[in-house]
Amino acid sequence: MTMSRSRIYPLYTHAQIHERVLELGAQIAKEYEGKDLVVIGLLNGVYQFFSDLTRNTDLDFDVTFMQVASYGGGTESTGEVKILHDLDRSIRGRHALIVEDIVDTGLTLNKVRKLLLDRDPASLKICSLLDKPSRRRVQVPVDYVGFTIEDHFVVGYGLDLDGKYRNLPYVGIYNPA
Ligand code: 5GP
Repeated sequence: MTMSRSRIYPLYTHAQIHERVLELGAQIAKEYEGKDLVVIGLLNGVYQFFSDLTRNTDLDFDVTFMQVASYGGGTESTGEVKILHDLDRSIRGRHALIVEDIVDTGLTLNKVRKLLLDRDPASLKICSLLDKPSRRRVQVPVDYVGFTIEDHFVVGYGLDLDGKYRNLPYVGIYNPA
């Protein structure tokens, strides 16, 4: 398959994303004021969103990362999650917020959520830049959503296609046709 930027149709500009990030940051700052918060970025796709969101959340909190991969090949996640990089600190008794790039089938987040709940946080919430509810195979509570989208394969602003396009400042629909 030949990959080309001309196949990417802009969905959300950087300015639109920024505006939404400011709203989410304000919401999160309000909700967690006075609480011991650990914000957990799920690598790799979240890196642009995570950076912008944390920079625009006016609160003191702990920042850490987790990297997971789905077992099995293909383009869909299997729900069997392998931890490539685990948290470097305890979340026991603390308020944890998972930050993700996109929730698709929900299988990955469902597994990560269960893993982290076993570690007894005071609370565990999820924030995702994008949500594709029509693709859901398992229900997982997404507490903060940037944008709800239709069933499109999107790239940019951290999201990749075979490792490419993560560095685009906007989110676009990849249309290989
Ligand atoms: P889930 O377990 O919810 O099906 O998988 C979520 C993961 O699949 C995301 O973190 C992301 O890595 C990948 N994914 C799902 N939909 C898309 C998409 O439209 N574009 C890209 N680039 N990755 C996606």
